Amino acid sequence: MTSLRFKVVEEAFKKRPVSIQAPEGRPSEYFARYVFNQEKMFKYLPLDSYRELRKAIEQGTPLTLSVADEVAKGMKRWAMEMGATHCTHWFQPLTEGTAEKHDAFVEHDGKGGMIENFSGKELVQQEPDASSFPNGGIRSTFEARGYSAWDPASPVFIIGDTLMIPTVFISYTGEALDYKAPLKKSLAAIDRAATAVARYFCPDVQRVNTNLGWEQEYFLVDEGLYAARPDLLLTGRTLMGHESSKNQQMDDHYFGAIPERVAEFMRDLEIRALELGIPCKTRHNEVAPNQFELAPIFEECNLAVDHNMLLMSLMPSVARKHGFRCLLHEKPFAGINGSGKHNNWSLTTDTGVLLHAPGKTPEDNLRFITFIVETLMGVYRHNGLLKASIMSATNAHRLGGCEAPPAIISSFLGSQLSELLERVANSTKDELFTLEGKHGVRLDIPQIPELMIDNTDRNRTSPFAFTGNRFEFRAVGSSANCSSALIALNTAVAEALTDFKERVDTLINEKGESQLSAILDILREDIRTIAPLHFDGNGYSDAWREEAARRGLDCETSCPLIFDRYLDEASIKMFERMHVMNRHELAARNEIKWETYFKKVQIEARVLGDLCLNHIIPVATRYQSVLADNVHKIRCAFSSPERVEALTSYNINLIEQINFHTDFIAKAVDEMVEQRKQANRITSIRERAIAYHDLVAPYLEQIRYHCDELELIVEDDMWTLPKYRELLFIR
Ligand code: ADP
Ligand code: MG
Repeated sequence: MTSLRFKVVEEAFKKRPVSIQAPEGRPSEYFARYVFNQEKMFKYLPLDSYRELRKAIEQGTPLTLSVADEVAKGMKRWAMEMGATHCTHWFQPLTEGTAEKHDAFVEHDGKGGMIENFSGKELVQQEPDASSFPNGGIRSTFEARGYSAWDPASPVFIIGDTLMIPTVFISYTGEALDYKAPLKKSLAAIDRAATAVARYFCPDVQRVNTNLGWEQEYFLVDEGLYAARPDLLLTGRTLMGHESSKNQQMDDHYFGAIPERVAEFMRDLEIRALELGIPCKTRHNEVAPNQFELAPIFEECNLAVDHNMLLMSLMPSVARKHGFRCLLHEKPFAGINGSGKHNNWSLTTDTGVLLHAPGKTPEDNLRFITFIVETLMGVYRHNGLLKASIMSATNAHRLGGCEAPPAIISSFLGSQLSELLERVANSTKDELFTLEGKHGVRLDIPQIPELMIDNTDRNRTSPFAFTGNRFEFRAVGSSANCSSALIALNTAVAEALTDFKERVDTLINEKGESQLSAILDILREDIRTIAPLHFDGNGYSDAWREEAARRGLDCETSCPLIFDRYLDEASIKMFERMHVMNRHELAARNEIKWETYFKKVQIEARVLGDLCLNHIIPVATRYQSVLADNVHKIRCAFSSPERVEALTSYNINLIEQINFHTDFIAKAVDEMVEQRKQANRITSIRERAIAYHDLVAPYLEQIRYHCDELELIVEDDMWTLPKYRELLFIR
């Protein structure tokens, strides 16, 4: 074992699990230890400030500065007792991840010393420089003001010595520069629209909340091996690497026993997450080797998104303590499953009715059918936009390959719901419908009790599947901020519900129809309208792609062109009418999307070019010299041309093959550089992104193919980059 690669492999093999000291007590006792939750608000705030704050959280009323001052005082007292010395606004700019700028609690005391201070104003508002964050041209350096403003609906928390305050981030002129501001507006839109419709069925409803339960998938890679892969380090994915002879074909990783080093990492991560109030529930191995999942119990959407962002920032740091790197990229390895982040989504009233779940009575079921149909209506009308909302340079690699939903938005409903909708669509009288709940199935296995079988099966290929009491938006990528998908989904459904209400009211008020009759009339019409979205078959098949195109669903696959859907008149109208975003904000956001897209491809192209010139071609050439040396020596040692021919033909063939591949790579790298130069001259960001997609990105795949062929030819000892079998099977 000589090469550096073997050394890191050997070291990775020898690593033992890092056992962590668990906090005392049960998880329920240390849960939310570092969160200023309701219990701490009650303890640290004067009663009237506590009441005002609860009102702000529950009803969205604004806080006065004097109440904010009282709240800040209480928070500071708690934070200092917990050892915090700094605070920061914590926000979600349009980059990946979160942003923070720490300020100490100190002020001059006027006597030459310092005092700890934290005012209501600092809690409520800060002013980070908006021109340094992606803003799509909304802010330039000469007009840099941007504000972060506290979101009381998401509790503050402590990390290390810092009090973290979740905030929205907006420009001086009021445009959103983040994900949270439009998410909150979309939640308000769906609350308004869904409350109005829910009142047909439950008149005492005051509010409708959106629920989100995300499932975070990720890969772990030993950090020594990771460090030896510049592509992973710089782009988050492997740009080359021949498939391991064994990968996921035995289906032996999914739900398999969790390797001990990983189990320790998971325990550590969960403890840290629980202490920060993230209600972790599920952990398991995923389908691909070294792939895992963590899912909490679902929560109110805005809070759930913050918790996901927080978890994604904890994961890499906890992973490093265990000698791992955590990969959140959607497709770190070709040929095996990628990582997604299923978004389980549903609506609940303040009276406790889960609007997407069937009820006990036929009346409940009319409510259920209404919310299902109008959800599908929003998704159908804006299926291209919903695809744009989950699309990114990284997720594009995952969609449509290896157990990931295809780049076409359709919805799986299952046989029972499909039949029910058909019955409603074909009904002629105004009648109510019953629905069977879970049913018991007796198994003929000794000692095993009766099982309760759900009324829907599962379909892993569907991007937007109904799963019994919620929809599961599966197309969302593992590295994404869930808000992007949810802003589009919430707004589309809010619009559909608003239209539904208007049409039903028209039938009641102008045609004199009964409420039941009006609702059924509109539902019958809408069930027919949404039929093209409904697909229970195999989403991976080629036949579906053709069928989807015939049905008029959006089948575009080019990432920069998919982003265009945000600027369709129908999308702009929807966002403006629902008061979520205006035309100007949408245009600015698209500039950021195109820019992020081309920059990612640009970085990948540079990294691959360097790897080819510094690793692949030199290593292959060195091995070629070894072979040539062997051929030369044989020629010297044997005089019979037949013997020479017999003894050298294998190596000569390899020499030729190496030449073929290195030639191709060298030429393609040159061409790719040239295409990049040309693309960089294009001034329109959209056009530049398209050029990167059409003219630069294809080289990545072509070059990779030849690199991977060389990996198979070159002597193992000489190959410098850790191979898939090492990256994926050492833990
Ligand atoms: P899966 O089998 O798809 O992994 P789980 O049962 O583990 O699904 O649940 C996945 C997520 O869905 C969890 O976060 C769970 O809390 C959430 N969830 C369950 N019911 C609902 C609901 N009605 N609305 C939103 N999320 C839900
Ligand atoms: Mg799921």
